[in-house]
Amino acid sequence: MALPKVENVKKCPYCGSDDGFTLKHSVSGYIHTHYSFDGTEMDNSEMYASLREKAHKYAVCLSCDKSIGTWSSESLQAVTERSKGYQFTR
Ligand SMILES: [Zn+2]
Repeated sequence: MALPKVENVKKCPYCGSDDGFTLKHSVSGYIHTHYSFDGTEMDNSEMYASLREKAHKYAVCLSCDKSIGTWSSESLQAVTERSKGYQFTR
């Protein structure tokens, strides 16, 4: 049976948890770290700015690690406001 779109899943069909789901992201590219010659703090807030990121296709239950739905760019629009953690800007 095909998995539903994850934005339509309200709880895990396997374990019943409504805690949420996790996505795996593939990341490639470089990070840049800045250091001063005298040991004073440097701005590294843009360290990850040049990384390329792509979310994997399947959303996985946080509690039992089973695949519970499919992820797409439409999913991001639907679930972004539910997220309390890190948000991708794309
Ligand atoms: Zn589960």
